[in-house]
Amino acid sequence: MKRSRKILLALLSILAVVQIPFIYRRYVIGKRFEQIAAIQSGRNPAIDANFAEYKGNIHVHTSLGGHSTGGFDELIAAANSNGLDFVVMTEHYSENYDTAALTLNGVFGKTLFVGGNEIDTADSDRFFMLPGGKDAAGFRFEHTDNVLSKIHSGKGLAVIAYPEKFKSWGSGFDGIEVFNLKTMAKSSNPVTLVLDALWSGYSYPDLMFADHLRRPDTNLKQFDEIARTRRISMFGGTDGHSNIGLHVFGTDTGGKLLNIKIDPYETTFRIVRMHILLPKDEPLTRESLIGAIGKGNYFTGFDAFGDTTGFRFVGTAGSEIVQQGGEASYSDGLLLKISSPVAVRMVIFKNGEKWSEQADVADHAIKPDGAGVYRVELYQDALGETGSKMPWIVSNPIYVR
Ligand SMILES: [Zn+2]
Repeated sequence: MKRSRKILLALLSILAVVQIPFIYRRYVIGKRFEQIAAIQSGRNPAIDANFAEYKGNIHVHTSLGGHSTGGFDELIAAANSNGLDFVVMTEHYSENYDTAALTLNGVFGKTLFVGGNEIDTADSDRFFMLPGGKDAAGFRFEHTDNVLSKIHSGKGLAVIAYPEKFKSWGSGFDGIEVFNLKTMAKSSNPVTLVLDALWSGYSYPDLMFADHLRRPDTNLKQFDEIARTRRISMFGGTDGHSNIGLHVFGTDTGGKLLNIKIDPYETTFRIVRMHILLPKDEPLTRESLIGAIGKGNYFTGFDAFGDTTGFRFVGTAGSEIVQQGGEASYSDGLLLKISSPVAVRMVIFKNGEKWSEQADVADHAIKPDGAGVYRVELYQDALGETGSKMPWIVSNPIYVR
């Protein structure tokens, strides 16, 4: 055999052997998929007489603001087919036109879209303004504190994006994107991610992606530190660009031979969702959505591991009910009540420290032992490492004063 042919044969054998762990992973992810379906078949979500729940995504881009290949049609179709009630758009700004006004605003099909902006300041801080506006581009020449007071004087919200890179922690932000799908995916080995997508991405796109997510310990710690001093809310951003992946030959407009896209809207919209809680007499509108985000009346659900709809975390004393994000005054009768649609391990944090843990429960009530900031993370240990290390549901805090 010619030397070149031997080398080619050796390379092909190596390539074949490398596939084995990913073929096995496809089997494992398939089993997990069946297991999630079995767990979900027994779901028993709380019936809430007072609050309605709306689910959606925050941090979504299209080609309008650059850095993305996604278009409006693809976005609307994915939001509608996934039953999303809302999508908060965070287009990058343009010097020449108002991307927040030109992106989707209003109801398309079943989904309410709100145009925000992802902006940066002269202090190199990057965050979202909700709603967005024509000032977005000019804010890059101003200091963070100035920009914040302008956003707040217009009754808007300023929410930290990419906390890993953030600098001005002392300023008065309304929320933190503690989870970011794109950042989380980037921290896994790109070769592993692509080979995984090749074998499991077609059958289990969201679960394959979600399997690479890890609890962002540092971001949660930073959040807890701020929450000890004042109210602030946390969320998981999709950071949907519809542009992670690889293709062989061709361009973004076509002619591709091998095309693996890991983050189409259709997939990312199924992985993480914000579940907003509004009083039953308050309809979901642009204003009520921004209001609920500002007040922290919502939780982050990693719905790729099973539908998180129906999770509740409230403080109750007599007939008074305080929703997550709210303040409850400490009394002997105050109870923190947690309901999960399926049995889980509940970890309750107080002032950022693990305070109480309860395994294999769907409903749990506990008396706070004094003033403090209480929040909950839910884990599905039955799903192996994916379920025991990566939270399924993360609440916003209840502030006991
Ligand atoms: Zn972004």
